[in-house]
Amino acid sequence: MSRIAVIGAGFAGLTAATSLNDAGHTVTVFEARDRVGGRVWSEEIQTFDGPRVIERGAEFVLDAYTEMQRLAEENGLSLVETGMSYYVREPGDVPFTAADIVETGKAAGAVVAKVGPSATAEDVLQQLDADPQLVDTLRARIEISTAVGADEVTAGALTQVASFEPKKSWRVGGGNQSLPKALAAQLDGAIRMNTPVTRVESRDGGGATVTTADGREDFDAVVVAVPFSVLRDRSVIEMPTTAERERALDGVIQGHAVKLHAPLERAPETSAVMSVAGRYWTWTAVDASGDVAPVLNSFMGSHKAIDAAGVAHDPSSWLSAVRELRPDLAIGDPAIATVWSRDPYAQGAYTAHASSLTDADTAALEAPIGDVHFAGEYADPNYTGLMEGAIRSGQRAAQRVLESIELTSEVAK
Ligand code: FAD
Repeated sequence: MSRIAVIGAGFAGLTAATSLNDAGHTVTVFEARDRVGGRVWSEEIQTFDGPRVIERGAEFVLDAYTEMQRLAEENGLSLVETGMSYYVREPGDVPFTAADIVETGKAAGAVVAKVGPSATAEDVLQQLDADPQLVDTLRARIEISTAVGADEVTAGALTQVASFEPKKSWRVGGGNQSLPKALAAQLDGAIRMNTPVTRVESRDGGGATVTTADGREDFDAVVVAVPFSVLRDRSVIEMPTTAERERALDGVIQGHAVKLHAPLERAPETSAVMSVAGRYWTWTAVDASGDVAPVLNSFMGSHKAIDAAGVAHDPSSWLSAVRELRPDLAIGDPAIATVWSRDPYAQGAYTAHASSLTDADTAALEAPIGDVHFAGEYADPNYTGLMEGAIRSGQRAAQRVLESIELTSEVAK
Protein backbone atom coordinates (compact mmCIF):
# COMPACT_ATOMS: atom_id res chain seq x y z
CA MET A 1 0.00 0.00 0.00
CA SER A 2 1.46 3.38 -1.02
CA ARG A 3 0.83 6.88 0.36
CA ILE A 4 -0.32 9.19 -2.39
CA ALA A 5 -1.12 12.91 -2.28
CA VAL A 6 -3.52 14.57 -4.71
CA ILE A 7 -3.43 18.37 -5.00
CA GLY A 8 -6.83 19.83 -5.95
CA ALA A 9 -10.35 18.47 -5.44
CA GLY A 10 -11.75 19.33 -8.88
CA PHE A 11 -12.82 16.63 -11.32
CA ALA A 12 -9.23 15.72 -12.30
CA GLY A 13 -8.03 15.38 -8.70
CA LEU A 14 -11.12 13.58 -7.39
CA THR A 15 -11.15 11.09 -10.29
CA ALA A 16 -7.48 10.29 -9.68
CA ALA A 17 -8.01 10.10 -5.90
CA THR A 18 -11.03 7.75 -6.05
CA SER A 19 -9.28 5.45 -8.58
CA LEU A 20 -6.18 5.22 -6.35
CA ASN A 21 -8.32 4.75 -3.24
CA ASP A 22 -10.25 1.95 -4.99
CA ALA A 23 -6.91 0.29 -5.82
CA GLY A 24 -6.21 0.09 -2.07
CA HIS A 25 -3.74 2.94 -1.59
CA THR A 26 -3.82 5.59 1.15
CA VAL A 27 -4.82 8.86 -0.49
CA THR A 28 -4.67 12.38 0.97
CA VAL A 29 -6.31 15.17 -1.04
CA PHE A 30 -5.21 18.77 -0.39
CA GLU A 31 -7.80 21.37 -1.39
CA ALA A 32 -7.28 25.13 -1.08
CA ARG A 33 -10.99 26.04 -0.91
CA ASP A 34 -13.72 25.24 1.61
CA ARG A 35 -15.62 23.24 -1.02
CA VAL A 36 -14.88 20.49 -3.56
CA GLY A 37 -15.58 20.75 -7.30
CA GLY A 38 -13.22 23.59 -8.29
CA ARG A 39 -14.66 25.14 -11.43
CA VAL A 40 -17.82 23.05 -10.99
CA TRP A 41 -19.85 25.13 -8.55
CA SER A 42 -23.63 24.78 -8.19
CA GLU A 43 -25.66 27.15 -6.03
CA GLU A 44 -29.32 28.07 -5.58
CA ILE A 45 -31.02 31.25 -6.71
CA GLN A 46 -34.44 32.32 -5.38
CA THR A 47 -37.17 32.74 -8.00
CA PHE A 48 -40.95 33.41 -7.82
CA ASP A 49 -41.24 29.63 -8.26
CA GLY A 50 -38.91 28.69 -5.39
CA PRO A 51 -35.15 28.00 -5.36
CA ARG A 52 -33.50 26.83 -8.60
CA VAL A 53 -29.95 25.57 -9.18
CA ILE A 54 -27.50 27.73 -11.12
CA GLU A 55 -24.11 26.62 -12.39
CA ARG A 56 -21.58 29.33 -11.60
CA GLY A 57 -18.91 27.34 -13.45
CA ALA A 58 -19.20 24.34 -15.80
CA GLU A 59 -22.72 23.80 -17.04
CA PHE A 60 -23.19 21.59 -20.10
CA VAL A 61 -22.59 17.88 -20.24
CA LEU A 62 -21.98 17.55 -23.95
CA ASP A 63 -22.21 14.85 -26.54
CA ALA A 64 -19.83 11.88 -26.04
CA TYR A 65 -18.99 12.63 -22.38
CA THR A 66 -18.81 8.87 -21.82
CA GLU A 67 -16.67 8.98 -18.66
CA MET A 68 -18.70 11.68 -16.96
CA GLN A 69 -21.93 9.85 -17.78
CA ARG A 70 -20.50 6.60 -16.38
CA LEU A 71 -19.35 8.31 -13.16
CA ALA A 72 -22.76 9.96 -12.71
CA GLU A 73 -24.51 6.62 -13.13
CA GLU A 74 -22.13 4.86 -10.72
CA ASN A 75 -22.91 7.53 -8.15
CA GLY A 76 -26.69 7.31 -8.57
CA LEU A 77 -27.00 10.70 -10.28
CA SER A 78 -29.08 11.36 -13.36
CA LEU A 79 -28.44 13.66 -16.27
CA VAL A 80 -31.26 16.02 -17.20
CA GLU A 81 -31.68 17.08 -20.82
CA THR A 82 -31.68 20.87 -21.07
CA GLY A 83 -34.35 21.00 -23.78
CA MET A 84 -32.18 23.39 -25.81
CA SER A 85 -28.88 22.67 -27.54
CA TYR A 86 -25.60 24.13 -26.30
CA TYR A 87 -24.45 23.99 -29.90
CA VAL A 88 -27.24 26.04 -31.56
CA ARG A 89 -27.62 29.75 -30.73
CA GLU A 90 -29.89 32.24 -32.41
CA PRO A 91 -27.93 35.46 -33.08
CA GLY A 92 -29.96 38.33 -31.55
CA ASP A 93 -28.15 41.41 -32.87
CA VAL A 94 -27.36 40.59 -36.52
CA PRO A 95 -29.67 39.76 -39.44
CA PHE A 96 -28.87 36.03 -39.52
CA THR A 97 -30.33 32.86 -38.05
CA ALA A 98 -28.88 29.90 -36.19
CA ALA A 99 -29.31 27.94 -39.46
CA ASP A 100 -27.02 30.44 -41.24
CA ILE A 101 -24.36 29.84 -38.58
CA VAL A 102 -24.73 26.07 -38.96
CA GLU A 103 -24.34 26.37 -42.75
CA THR A 104 -21.25 28.59 -42.49
CA GLY A 105 -19.92 26.36 -39.71
CA LYS A 106 -20.20 23.36 -42.04
CA ALA A 107 -18.26 25.24 -44.73
CA ALA A 108 -15.63 26.05 -42.10
CA GLY A 109 -15.50 22.37 -41.11
CA ALA A 110 -14.67 21.44 -44.69
CA VAL A 111 -11.81 24.00 -44.66
CA VAL A 112 -10.49 22.57 -41.33
CA ALA A 113 -10.16 19.17 -42.99
CA LYS A 114 -8.02 20.76 -45.74
CA VAL A 115 -5.79 23.17 -43.74
CA GLY A 116 -4.48 20.63 -41.23
CA PRO A 117 -3.79 20.81 -37.51
CA SER A 118 -1.34 23.75 -37.50
CA ALA A 119 -3.97 26.27 -38.68
CA THR A 120 -5.81 28.63 -36.33
CA ALA A 121 -9.58 29.08 -36.36
CA GLU A 122 -8.98 32.57 -37.83
CA ASP A 123 -7.01 31.02 -40.75
CA VAL A 124 -10.13 28.99 -41.51
CA LEU A 125 -12.45 32.02 -41.22
CA GLN A 126 -10.24 33.96 -43.66
CA GLN A 127 -10.77 31.29 -46.30
CA LEU A 128 -14.57 31.39 -46.16
CA ASP A 129 -16.39 32.83 -49.14
CA ALA A 130 -19.26 34.41 -47.17
CA ASP A 131 -20.72 37.78 -46.05
CA PRO A 132 -18.10 39.33 -43.67
CA GLN A 133 -20.78 39.98 -41.03
CA LEU A 134 -21.79 36.32 -41.16
CA VAL A 135 -18.13 35.32 -40.84
CA ASP A 136 -17.89 37.59 -37.77
CA THR A 137 -20.97 35.88 -36.35
CA LEU A 138 -19.13 32.58 -36.66
CA ARG A 139 -16.01 34.18 -35.16
CA ALA A 140 -18.11 35.36 -32.20
CA ARG A 141 -19.45 31.84 -31.70
CA ILE A 142 -15.90 30.43 -31.66
CA GLU A 143 -14.54 33.12 -29.32
CA ILE A 144 -17.42 32.81 -26.87
CA SER A 145 -17.13 29.02 -26.63
CA THR A 146 -13.35 28.70 -26.55
CA ALA A 147 -13.04 31.83 -24.35
CA VAL A 148 -9.97 32.92 -26.36
CA GLY A 149 -9.38 34.78 -29.67
CA ALA A 150 -10.05 32.97 -32.97
CA ASP A 151 -6.52 33.97 -34.02
CA GLU A 152 -5.04 32.05 -31.07
CA VAL A 153 -6.97 28.82 -30.94
CA THR A 154 -6.39 25.77 -33.11
CA ALA A 155 -8.85 25.20 -35.97
CA GLY A 156 -9.65 21.86 -34.29
CA ALA A 157 -11.84 23.80 -31.79
CA LEU A 158 -14.40 24.11 -34.57
CA THR A 159 -15.11 20.41 -34.29
CA GLN A 160 -15.29 20.30 -30.46
CA VAL A 161 -16.55 23.11 -28.16
CA ALA A 162 -17.44 25.36 -31.09
CA SER A 163 -19.17 22.61 -33.05
CA PHE A 164 -22.48 23.56 -34.70
CA GLU A 165 -24.37 20.27 -34.89
CA PRO A 166 -27.73 20.51 -33.09
CA LYS A 167 -26.78 17.78 -30.60
CA LYS A 168 -28.40 17.36 -27.19
CA SER A 169 -26.87 18.74 -23.99
CA TRP A 170 -27.47 17.82 -20.35
CA ARG A 171 -26.77 18.90 -16.76
CA VAL A 172 -26.51 16.74 -13.66
CA GLY A 173 -29.93 16.81 -11.94
CA GLY A 174 -29.71 18.88 -8.75
CA GLY A 175 -26.45 20.49 -9.91
CA ASN A 176 -23.21 19.41 -11.54
CA GLN A 177 -21.40 19.79 -8.22
CA SER A 178 -23.37 16.78 -6.90
CA LEU A 179 -20.88 14.60 -8.78
CA PRO A 180 -17.65 15.94 -7.21
CA LYS A 181 -19.47 15.84 -3.85
CA ALA A 182 -20.33 12.16 -4.41
CA LEU A 183 -16.71 11.37 -5.37
CA ALA A 184 -15.48 13.22 -2.26
CA ALA A 185 -17.87 11.16 -0.09
CA GLN A 186 -16.15 7.99 -1.33
CA LEU A 187 -12.86 9.29 0.09
CA ASP A 188 -14.23 9.24 3.61
CA GLY A 189 -12.37 12.06 5.37
CA ALA A 190 -9.21 11.90 3.24
CA ILE A 191 -9.67 15.49 1.96
CA ARG A 192 -7.95 18.33 3.81
CA MET A 193 -10.08 21.39 3.02
CA ASN A 194 -8.78 24.98 3.30
CA THR A 195 -5.24 23.65 2.84
CA PRO A 196 -3.45 25.31 -0.11
CA VAL A 197 -0.25 23.55 -1.15
CA THR A 198 2.63 25.97 -1.65
CA ARG A 199 5.31 23.58 -2.89
CA VAL A 200 5.73 20.12 -4.41
CA GLU A 201 9.23 18.62 -4.65
CA SER A 202 10.34 15.43 -6.36
CA ARG A 203 12.80 13.50 -4.14
CA ASP A 204 15.98 12.03 -5.71
CA GLY A 205 15.58 8.64 -4.08
CA GLY A 206 11.90 8.41 -5.14
CA GLY A 207 8.69 9.90 -3.78
CA ALA A 208 7.76 13.55 -3.34
CA THR A 209 7.28 16.15 -0.62
CA VAL A 210 4.24 18.41 -0.22
CA THR A 211 4.45 21.71 1.68
CA THR A 212 1.47 23.51 3.23
CA ALA A 213 1.13 26.03 6.09
CA ASP A 214 1.01 22.96 8.39
CA GLY A 215 4.49 21.81 7.34
CA ARG A 216 6.18 19.33 4.99
CA GLU A 217 4.94 15.80 4.35
CA ASP A 218 6.46 12.94 2.33
CA PHE A 219 4.49 10.72 -0.04
CA ASP A 220 5.34 7.88 -2.41
CA ALA A 221 3.73 9.81 -5.29
CA VAL A 222 1.84 13.06 -5.88
CA VAL A 223 -0.82 13.94 -8.48
CA VAL A 224 -0.92 17.69 -9.15
CA ALA A 225 -4.43 18.58 -10.38
CA VAL A 226 -4.52 22.38 -10.02
CA PRO A 227 -5.68 24.69 -12.86
CA PHE A 228 -3.24 25.72 -15.59
CA SER A 229 -2.69 29.36 -14.52
CA VAL A 230 -2.31 28.39 -10.87
CA LEU A 231 0.27 25.80 -11.90
CA ARG A 232 2.30 28.53 -13.59
CA ASP A 233 1.99 31.04 -10.74
CA ARG A 234 5.02 30.50 -8.50
CA SER A 235 3.65 32.95 -5.96
CA VAL A 236 0.89 30.38 -5.28
CA ILE A 237 2.65 27.04 -5.79
CA GLU A 238 6.18 25.89 -6.68
CA MET A 239 6.46 22.82 -8.80
CA PRO A 240 9.16 20.69 -10.43
CA THR A 241 9.37 21.24 -14.18
CA THR A 242 11.53 20.51 -17.24
CA ALA A 243 12.36 22.48 -20.40
CA GLU A 244 10.13 20.10 -22.38
CA ARG A 245 7.22 20.65 -20.00
CA GLU A 246 7.61 24.45 -20.08
CA ARG A 247 7.63 24.39 -23.91
CA ALA A 248 4.40 22.37 -23.88
CA LEU A 249 2.80 24.70 -21.31
CA ASP A 250 3.66 27.65 -23.57
CA GLY A 251 1.27 26.14 -26.15
CA VAL A 252 -1.69 26.21 -23.76
CA ILE A 253 -3.83 29.37 -23.76
CA GLN A 254 -5.79 30.48 -20.71
CA GLY A 255 -9.37 31.30 -21.62
CA HIS A 256 -11.42 33.82 -19.65
CA ALA A 257 -15.15 33.90 -19.02
CA VAL A 258 -17.74 35.53 -16.80
CA LYS A 259 -21.19 34.14 -16.03
CA LEU A 260 -24.31 36.10 -15.13
CA HIS A 261 -27.48 34.72 -13.54
CA ALA A 262 -30.73 36.41 -12.61
CA PRO A 263 -34.20 35.19 -11.60
CA LEU A 264 -37.02 35.64 -14.11
CA GLU A 265 -40.38 37.02 -13.06
CA ARG A 266 -42.40 34.65 -15.22
CA ALA A 267 -41.85 31.16 -16.70
CA PRO A 268 -39.89 31.25 -19.98
CA GLU A 269 -39.64 28.91 -22.98
CA THR A 270 -36.29 27.21 -23.62
CA SER A 271 -33.99 29.50 -25.62
CA ALA A 272 -30.40 30.19 -26.71
CA VAL A 273 -29.65 33.68 -28.04
CA MET A 274 -26.20 35.16 -28.61
CA SER A 275 -24.86 38.69 -28.95
CA VAL A 276 -22.26 38.93 -31.71
CA ALA A 277 -21.14 42.44 -30.71
CA GLY A 278 -20.93 41.62 -27.00
CA ARG A 279 -19.39 38.12 -27.40
CA TYR A 280 -21.86 36.52 -25.00
CA TRP A 281 -24.87 34.24 -25.14
CA THR A 282 -27.96 33.81 -23.00
CA TRP A 283 -30.15 30.77 -22.43
CA THR A 284 -33.08 29.33 -20.53
CA ALA A 285 -33.25 25.59 -19.97
CA VAL A 286 -35.15 22.70 -18.43
CA ASP A 287 -33.91 21.63 -14.99
CA ALA A 288 -34.48 18.61 -12.72
CA SER A 289 -38.09 19.74 -12.05
CA GLY A 290 -38.90 18.93 -15.70
CA ASP A 291 -39.94 22.57 -16.33
CA VAL A 292 -38.00 25.41 -17.88
CA ALA A 293 -36.32 27.09 -14.90
CA PRO A 294 -37.24 30.79 -14.47
CA VAL A 295 -33.56 31.72 -14.56
CA LEU A 296 -31.55 33.81 -17.01
CA ASN A 297 -28.14 32.25 -17.72
CA SER A 298 -25.48 34.17 -19.59
CA PHE A 299 -21.83 33.53 -20.46
CA MET A 300 -19.32 36.00 -21.88
CA GLY A 301 -16.13 34.54 -23.34
CA SER A 302 -12.63 35.91 -24.12
CA HIS A 303 -10.44 38.43 -22.35
CA LYS A 304 -11.03 40.97 -25.12
CA ALA A 305 -14.82 40.95 -24.67
CA ILE A 306 -14.66 41.00 -20.86
CA ASP A 307 -12.24 43.96 -20.88
CA ALA A 308 -14.30 45.84 -23.49
CA ALA A 309 -17.48 45.48 -21.43
CA GLY A 310 -15.71 46.18 -18.11
CA VAL A 311 -17.73 43.37 -16.52
CA ALA A 312 -14.97 42.01 -14.29
CA HIS A 313 -15.54 44.88 -11.86
CA ASP A 314 -19.04 46.06 -12.75
CA PRO A 315 -21.46 43.76 -14.59
CA SER A 316 -24.34 46.30 -14.59
CA SER A 317 -23.77 47.44 -18.21
CA TRP A 318 -23.77 43.79 -19.31
CA LEU A 319 -27.05 43.22 -17.46
CA SER A 320 -28.57 46.26 -19.25
CA ALA A 321 -27.35 44.89 -22.61
CA VAL A 322 -28.87 41.48 -21.81
CA ARG A 323 -32.21 43.14 -20.98
CA GLU A 324 -32.11 44.79 -24.42
CA LEU A 325 -31.13 41.57 -26.21
CA ARG A 326 -33.83 39.56 -24.40
CA PRO A 327 -36.99 41.71 -24.16
CA ASP A 328 -38.89 38.38 -24.21
CA LEU A 329 -37.62 37.57 -20.69
CA ALA A 330 -38.85 39.31 -17.54
CA ILE A 331 -35.42 39.64 -15.93
CA GLY A 332 -35.62 40.34 -12.19
CA ASP A 333 -33.11 40.99 -9.39
CA PRO A 334 -30.62 40.35 -7.98
CA ALA A 335 -28.19 39.38 -10.73
CA ILE A 336 -25.16 37.32 -9.76
CA ALA A 337 -21.89 37.65 -11.71
CA THR A 338 -19.08 35.10 -11.39
CA VAL A 339 -15.68 36.35 -12.54
CA TRP A 340 -13.31 33.37 -12.78
CA SER A 341 -10.19 35.41 -13.59
CA ARG A 342 -10.38 36.99 -10.14
CA ASP A 343 -10.57 33.63 -8.38
CA PRO A 344 -7.06 32.97 -6.99
CA TYR A 345 -7.45 29.18 -7.24
CA ALA A 346 -8.65 29.25 -10.87
CA GLN A 347 -7.19 32.45 -12.40
CA GLY A 348 -9.30 31.95 -15.52
CA ALA A 349 -12.12 29.85 -16.95
CA TYR A 350 -10.63 27.00 -18.98
CA THR A 351 -7.89 26.47 -21.53
CA ALA A 352 -7.58 25.98 -25.26
CA HIS A 353 -4.65 24.55 -27.20
CA ALA A 354 -2.73 26.80 -29.57
CA SER A 355 -2.25 25.58 -33.13
CA SER A 356 1.51 25.36 -32.38
CA LEU A 357 1.01 22.58 -29.81
CA THR A 358 2.23 19.27 -31.27
CA ASP A 359 1.13 15.77 -30.21
CA ALA A 360 4.50 15.38 -28.44
CA ASP A 361 3.88 18.63 -26.53
CA THR A 362 0.42 17.42 -25.50
CA ALA A 363 1.93 14.18 -24.21
CA ALA A 364 4.54 16.24 -22.28
CA LEU A 365 1.74 18.01 -20.38
CA GLU A 366 1.03 14.78 -18.50
CA ALA A 367 4.56 13.32 -18.43
CA PRO A 368 5.55 12.71 -14.77
CA ILE A 369 8.67 14.25 -13.25
CA GLY A 370 10.00 11.55 -10.91
CA ASP A 371 6.99 10.61 -8.79
CA VAL A 372 5.14 13.87 -9.45
CA HIS A 373 2.23 13.35 -11.89
CA PHE A 374 0.02 15.94 -13.59
CA ALA A 375 -3.68 16.07 -14.49
CA GLY A 376 -6.28 18.66 -15.45
CA GLU A 377 -8.55 19.86 -18.24
CA TYR A 378 -5.59 21.67 -19.86
CA ALA A 379 -3.78 18.38 -20.46
CA ASP A 380 -6.45 16.42 -22.30
CA PRO A 381 -5.93 16.28 -26.08
CA ASN A 382 -9.55 15.67 -27.12
CA TYR A 383 -11.70 17.34 -24.47
CA THR A 384 -9.42 20.27 -23.63
CA GLY A 385 -11.10 22.79 -21.33
CA LEU A 386 -14.01 20.52 -20.46
CA MET A 387 -15.23 18.46 -17.49
CA GLU A 388 -14.81 15.29 -19.56
CA GLY A 389 -11.18 16.24 -20.26
CA ALA A 390 -10.47 16.78 -16.54
CA ILE A 391 -12.01 13.39 -15.69
CA ARG A 392 -10.09 11.54 -18.42
CA SER A 393 -6.83 13.24 -17.47
CA GLY A 394 -7.37 12.28 -13.80
CA GLN A 395 -8.01 8.67 -14.82
CA ARG A 396 -4.77 8.56 -16.84
CA ALA A 397 -2.76 10.09 -13.95
CA ALA A 398 -4.08 7.40 -11.58
CA GLN A 399 -3.18 4.71 -14.12
CA ARG A 400 0.37 6.06 -14.42
CA VAL A 401 0.80 6.16 -10.64
CA LEU A 402 -0.41 2.55 -10.40
CA GLU A 403 1.97 1.44 -13.15
CA SER A 404 4.94 3.15 -11.48
CA ILE A 405 4.07 1.63 -8.09
CA GLU A 406 3.92 -1.81 -9.72
CA LEU A 407 7.27 -1.19 -11.40
CA THR A 408 8.87 -0.08 -8.11
CA SER A 409 7.64 -3.18 -6.29
CA GLU A 410 8.89 -5.42 -9.19
CA VAL A 411 12.36 -3.85 -8.85
CA ALA A 412 12.27 -4.27 -5.05
CA LYS A 413 11.54 -8.03 -5.36
P1 FAD B 1 -10.59 22.53 -11.20
O1 FAD B 1 -12.02 22.18 -11.23
O2 FAD B 1 -10.25 23.97 -11.25
O3 FAD B 1 -9.96 21.88 -9.89
C1 FAD B 1 -8.71 22.27 -9.40
C2 FAD B 1 -8.77 22.33 -7.88
O4 FAD B 1 -7.48 22.69 -7.39
C3 FAD B 1 -9.73 23.40 -7.37
O5 FAD B 1 -10.64 22.82 -6.44
C4 FAD B 1 -8.81 24.43 -6.70
O6 FAD B 1 -9.40 25.07 -5.59
C5 FAD B 1 -7.65 23.55 -6.27
N1 FAD B 1 -6.40 24.28 -6.04
C6 FAD B 1 -5.89 25.30 -6.75
N2 FAD B 1 -4.71 25.67 -6.25
C7 FAD B 1 -4.46 24.87 -5.19
C8 FAD B 1 -3.38 24.76 -4.27
N3 FAD B 1 -2.32 25.57 -4.32
N4 FAD B 1 -3.47 23.82 -3.30
C9 FAD B 1 -4.55 22.99 -3.21
N5 FAD B 1 -5.59 23.06 -4.06
C10 FAD B 1 -5.54 23.98 -5.06
N6 FAD B 1 -16.85 22.36 -18.95
C11 FAD B 1 -17.78 21.61 -19.58
O7 FAD B 1 -17.56 20.41 -19.81
N7 FAD B 1 -18.98 22.16 -19.98
C12 FAD B 1 -19.28 23.47 -19.75
O8 FAD B 1 -20.37 23.94 -20.09
C13 FAD B 1 -18.30 24.28 -19.11
N8 FAD B 1 -18.55 25.59 -18.87
C14 FAD B 1 -17.68 26.30 -18.09
C15 FAD B 1 -18.01 27.60 -17.74
C16 FAD B 1 -17.17 28.33 -16.91
C17 FAD B 1 -17.52 29.74 -16.55
C18 FAD B 1 -15.99 27.74 -16.40
C19 FAD B 1 -15.10 28.49 -15.44
C20 FAD B 1 -15.65 26.45 -16.75
C21 FAD B 1 -16.48 25.72 -17.61
N9 FAD B 1 -16.17 24.42 -18.00
C22 FAD B 1 -17.09 23.67 -18.70
C23 FAD B 1 -14.84 23.84 -17.71
C24 FAD B 1 -14.78 22.91 -16.49
O9 FAD B 1 -15.24 23.61 -15.37
C25 FAD B 1 -13.33 22.49 -16.26
O10 FAD B 1 -12.80 21.94 -17.44
C26 FAD B 1 -13.17 21.41 -15.18
O11 FAD B 1 -14.09 21.58 -14.14
C27 FAD B 1 -11.74 21.49 -14.68
O12 FAD B 1 -11.49 20.49 -13.72
P2 FAD B 1 -10.03 20.39 -13.07
O13 FAD B 1 -10.09 19.33 -12.07
O14 FAD B 1 -9.02 20.29 -14.17
O15 FAD B 1 -9.78 21.82 -12.38
